Amino acid sequence: MDMLNHENLQRIYHHACSTYPEECCGFIFADGTVHHGINIQSELHHRQPDIHTRTGANGYTFSVADTLAMNRSFRSSNPVAVIYHSHPDVGAYFSHEDASKALFMGEPAYPVAYLVVDIRKGHAKAAKLFQWNGRCFACVQEIHTNEKDSTAQIRN
Ligand SMILES: [Zn+2]
Repeated sequence: MDMLNHENLQRIYHHACSTYPEECCGFIFADGTVHHGINIQSELHHRQPDIHTRTGANGYTFSVADTLAMNRSFRSSNPVAVIYHSHPDVGAYFSHEDASKALFMGEPAYPVAYLVVDIRKGHAKAAKLFQWNGRCFACVQEIHTNEKDSTAQIRN
């Protein structure tokens, strides 16, 4: 099963467009099911701005329900295989913040790959898949959207 098939990418791009200018986050299960997560980063920021300096515009934190579902999946026959989030207007790179979130004591916290979606002015331009190579998270796949796909509308 190609988890990053056209249909799944469209679902993820739509999600990313709908949360723009904030980051979206979610995951793809091993069977290909896309789960749209809830980014509570702005909520955390408003509650404790000194601790949570980032807002949803430049950070993501999964809701408690999402985190529970993901952790539960790792003990099931259908584990989360890909965690995705979007980068509004900054490009699809694996940031320092992304790496620290993905690591626990220098090792990958979860047995997953990471998809970062490049959103520009509300349109999905590209996506990059990053995987742990034993030393760092390296880009292993780059997906460019075609003109038609990139015009996924912002849904209000
Ligand atoms: Zn990021």
